[in-house]
Amino acid sequence: MPTADAIAAPPAIRNHLRKLGLERREDLVLHLPLRYEDETRITAIAAAPLGVPVQLEVRLLEVTLRLVPRRQLLLRVCDARAEDSLLDLRFLRFYGSQQRALEAARGCRLRLFGEVRCGFDGLEMVHPRYRVVADDEPLPQSLTPLYPTTAGLTQTVLRRLIMHALRQVDLAEVLEENWCSEQALPSFATAVSFLHAPPPAVSEAALENRTHPAWQRIKFDELLAQQLSLRRAYLARRHLGAPALPAACPLARRLEAALPFTLTGAQQRVAAEIAADLEQPRPMQRLLQGDVGCGKTVVAALAACQAIDAGFQAALMAPTEILAEQHFLKLRAWLEPLGVEVTWLAGGLGKTLRRAKQQQAAKTAQLVVGTHALIQESIDFARLGLAIVDEQHRFGVVQRLELRRKGSNPHQLMMSATPIPRTLAMSYYADLDVSVIDELPPGRSPVRTRLFSDSRRDDVIAAVRAVVAGGRQAYWVCPLVEESAKLELQAALATHASLSVELSGLRVGLVHGRLRARDKGAVMAAFAAGEIDVLVATTVIEVGVDVANATLMVIEHAERFGLAQLHQLRGRVGRGTHDSVCVLLYQQPLSATARARLKIIFEHTDGFEIASQDLRLRGPGEFVGSRQSGMPLLRYADLALDGELVELARAMAATLLRAAPDRAARHLQRWLGNREELLKA
Ligand code: ADP
Ligand code: MG
Repeated sequence: MPTADAIAAPPAIRNHLRKLGLERREDLVLHLPLRYEDETRITAIAAAPLGVPVQLEVRLLEVTLRLVPRRQLLLRVCDARAEDSLLDLRFLRFYGSQQRALEAARGCRLRLFGEVRCGFDGLEMVHPRYRVVADDEPLPQSLTPLYPTTAGLTQTVLRRLIMHALRQVDLAEVLEENWCSEQALPSFATAVSFLHAPPPAVSEAALENRTHPAWQRIKFDELLAQQLSLRRAYLARRHLGAPALPAACPLARRLEAALPFTLTGAQQRVAAEIAADLEQPRPMQRLLQGDVGCGKTVVAALAACQAIDAGFQAALMAPTEILAEQHFLKLRAWLEPLGVEVTWLAGGLGKTLRRAKQQQAAKTAQLVVGTHALIQESIDFARLGLAIVDEQHRFGVVQRLELRRKGSNPHQLMMSATPIPRTLAMSYYADLDVSVIDELPPGRSPVRTRLFSDSRRDDVIAAVRAVVAGGRQAYWVCPLVEESAKLELQAALATHASLSVELSGLRVGLVHGRLRARDKGAVMAAFAAGEIDVLVATTVIEVGVDVANATLMVIEHAERFGLAQLHQLRGRVGRGTHDSVCVLLYQQPLSATARARLKIIFEHTDGFEIASQDLRLRGPGEFVGSRQSGMPLLRYADLALDGELVELARAMAATLLRAAPDRAARHLQRWLGNREELLKA
């Protein structure tokens, strides 16, 4: 149904616009140019540089249809001011109507836009843009915008619609004028008017790389909309009720006393933050971040104790079966001696049996551990008080939000070992509180990283033998084959076959994603029990796997892996007190980015440092992963470059929501319209 701010245009055009995500007049105003052409100046043919877009004013002398060497329309023109400067225009694609119009325009003045080049018979332009003009036609006063568009929608039509929208839409300011001038940012109206029609004198570079204050203002506004909407969702959820779980929790104290280690200072700090959240009668929405191996699981277990002690259930979900099972085994070992009933729930069991077990578990279990089957299947908990999601970046937003439908708004603890640089975290997790464990348990020996070219594979094999001879174990990660899971499986089988020969005499196991859950579990258990010396694995071991006696990790074709992935994989070793080594095997020749990536992972062990280097290297994609799917992507702001603007936007979002909710609402309406629903769904 058309609304008051719908775009007035024929249905065919509206369809094109919809493809570009343009539904409202506001959307047109915020549809900003990709680049510009300078039609404010006329260049003389004689002075035109070759291969650079220029505008010429010419008189049309002749129109000829040529058939050899191929069908083409050839126009001969002369400079409107210097008639002895000649130029050919060549059209290899044209309509009959176009030909007739041009023939009728013989002797007329044309404005051309294109690049002059040296043709066979002198200077020429191929397929210039042209327009018949009157002799005294004035030049435009501003640069000509070129907009992102879609087939069937011309720049001219789009420009006209946008210019029209600019006159009709309310461009009222939502920010304080003083604040804008302090930040050297123009008003919203000034910024959009400027960007749709910049004066010719403006620095092309500042427009192109979007550093001009007008661009800064637009990027700020976009980030502000994002912050506002995430923050508002956060505040709305705070109004929901949740069970208040007393922080004075004997069960947690008993677990702490029974642990074979003492908590690090960082673990104690975040555990206290979480305990304080859980004590509130509103749902916790907290992200627990910490590098691989920093000990997030025990913090989660303590939180679970708090729910259980108060008579509620807790659920822990992990993205993979292997990881979920490891959690299950660990939590059972910790908690069963304290009288807590821990139940395993995963997709692997037979269907009917599974359903029955699930129903029963949902009623009685105190702590349920499983994969996201837990949230996807239709099981309902009797009294779910706390939902813990491990490696939350592997879960989509949708899955995460699905949790809220389980039982009465449980408290939520998200855990992530994917270190996210500050700017990104502020932007993407504006709807969560964040706790960070920034300390590793004592006694860990840092993992040494070695780079080996594939030609030294024999040395690596010898190193594996030496490690096993010393009583330790090794992982061998198979090459990543992104194109297909089938090829990846083949690669894993082939790697396992050849290593079984190269490492004859050693016990070589294999684990990959296509194994049945039970078989996977059996292999992992055998490796943990020391019955397998070398575990050949795909990236299924990327997260969470914890075998302290494994001290060597070999990653084949390391150049194919992303930095975050390499860091996660490397985190599988160095979990005990023994010296650990990670060998990155790479194949020559290395591309420049692959080289840069390997250099970063070689030089750094701190996940946050690696993440911010990676962000600089290639933008935010990998860290945020599936979270983006529920999020309108940033069109203009660039998190890798606009960190300062993110901070400004975050502070402004808080201010507006507190002091001027009406202006906050207006801003959201301007930027997101009804698309804000996307964020909540
Ligand atoms: P992650 O944060 O990567 O999930 P885990 O929770 O798996 O890390 O912990 C890694 C290992 O460190 C586990 O074996 C765990 O039992 C152990 N651990 C956790 N906290 C401590 C501590 N304070 N001191 C010693 N070892 C610890
Ligand atoms: Mg973990």
